[in-house]
Amino acid sequence: MNFDAIIIGAGQAGPPLAQSLAKHGKKVAIIEKNHLGGTCVNVGCTPTKAYVASARRAYVAANSSALGIEIKGEVVIDLKKIKQRKDALIQESRKGLEKMLTDNKNITLIRGEAMFVDNHTIEVNSKQYSASNYFINVGARPRIPEGFNEVPYLTNESILELEEIPDHLVIVGGGYIGLEFGQMFRRFGSKVTILEKGEQLLKKEDDDISALISEIMNDSDVEVKLKSNCIGAEKYKDYIEVTYNCNATTEKLKASHLLMATGRTPNTDNLGIKNTGVILNPHGYIQVDDTLKTSVDHIWALGDCNGKGAFTHTAYNDFQIVNSHLFLSPKRFLSDRFTCYAAFIDPPFARVGMNKNDILKRGLSAKVSEIPMKDISRAKEMGETTGKLKIFIEADTDTILGASFIGPGADEYIHTIIDQMYAGASYRTVRDAVHIHPTISELIPTMLENATKL
Ligand SMILES: Cc1cc2nc3c(=O)[nH]c(=O)nc-3n(C[C@H](O)[C@H](O)[C@H](O)COP(=O)(O)OP(=O)(O)OC[C@H]3O[C@@H](n4cnc5c(N)ncnc54)[C@H](O)[C@@H]3O)c2cc1C
Repeated sequence: MNFDAIIIGAGQAGPPLAQSLAKHGKKVAIIEKNHLGGTCVNVGCTPTKAYVASARRAYVAANSSALGIEIKGEVVIDLKKIKQRKDALIQESRKGLEKMLTDNKNITLIRGEAMFVDNHTIEVNSKQYSASNYFINVGARPRIPEGFNEVPYLTNESILELEEIPDHLVIVGGGYIGLEFGQMFRRFGSKVTILEKGEQLLKKEDDDISALISEIMNDSDVEVKLKSNCIGAEKYKDYIEVTYNCNATTEKLKASHLLMATGRTPNTDNLGIKNTGVILNPHGYIQVDDTLKTSVDHIWALGDCNGKGAFTHTAYNDFQIVNSHLFLSPKRFLSDRFTCYAAFIDPPFARVGMNKNDILKRGLSAKVSEIPMKDISRAKEMGETTGKLKIFIEADTDTILGASFIGPGADEYIHTIIDQMYAGASYRTVRDAVHIHPTISELIPTMLENATKL
């Protein structure tokens, strides 16, 4: 069968692209081997943020005596009910996507695993299809280090199927996925230990930010063991023995459950890429140019599988970039994008653009402004004073280079900075703005009055 376009993967970029192609009169096939919506809807953003919300309610219910609120009696965590709520949210999204894709007469939804036969042909369920253009949106999956084959470990997918709260959850990996699950399950009542091989949590962040993240984990009663090398695990009858630090004396932990949060690997290995001219980088990500075109002129790669972002907003922006090159003006480019992301721990951490490490590496001349959460009235009134706001400014141009925020609501008001960066505005625009009192972002203009040399 021939199509104008074939999209492989119905994650975060594929469905909006299918819709746009169809709107422009193109005959489109979209192929999905698993659930519609991909990682974000089924085993990523939606379920984890639903769990984070339950975990916060549990925490607030049990920890409000400092604000004069006592709950007499036990706070009961019902993981089955938490899971049911999450499953309902997922179903709603899947159904919405299914309707959107199947109601459109220009779109054919094909269920199955796609594999390239050559540059112009793919095979799904032993049938061959061809198209003028291909769009690869196959995402990524958990990367599991060697040596864990014999152990019943959990991933971000299987942990979300649990109906009973683990007694002792050991998490390998101190990135944002490990931190979110760690704090959440501690709040659900598990003992939680995070083993991180690096010297700090969130290894890409500045050391002051990582120190604050450690403080948040410590305050949450999550045990963190940094510099944990040669981590291994063995299954015993009713527990998993996790070993680490094999240099001097090997340390041991008895875990009821083991979660591997050790990074992601792109789903490009079973795609028949070797039958095409598409080039992968040494980590298996598809090489793309600034318009997300691969080394083959009619094949594009969007979302996590191109290694240019690992988030839903970057996958969706990939759709916007490709869509602009197909149908719109002005064109959009990958190089126009500022990196931004959040770790949805409590309080959240949010980041845009460069941090101190990036600025020093590039040898840029910069100024920095910062204020601790404990100096902000609204944070004090809320009784949530862990964190800080930190903004970097380029000394020569006065434009904002980046910001790192930790504090209640930081994942929302980081956008005041993101928008200024996209506007290419001087930091003075924000400095001279009047913000509402009492809010945390009220202090952003004030702190910018005191920028000092980095
Ligand atoms: C635990 C966790 C929490 C997360 N939380 C957040 C968050 O809060 N915010 C955020 O922005 N991001 C978050 N992410 C990341 C986000 O989920 C991903 O970046 C996003 O889903 C990537 O979208 P994508 O379209 O590239 O790929 P995916 O969403 O993974 O979709 C790819 C699709 O392709 C399908 N597929 C793969 N190979 C084939 C094939 N050969 N044939 C047919 N179909 C195929 C897959 O089944 C899948 O449905 C989280 C991720 C995890 C794991």
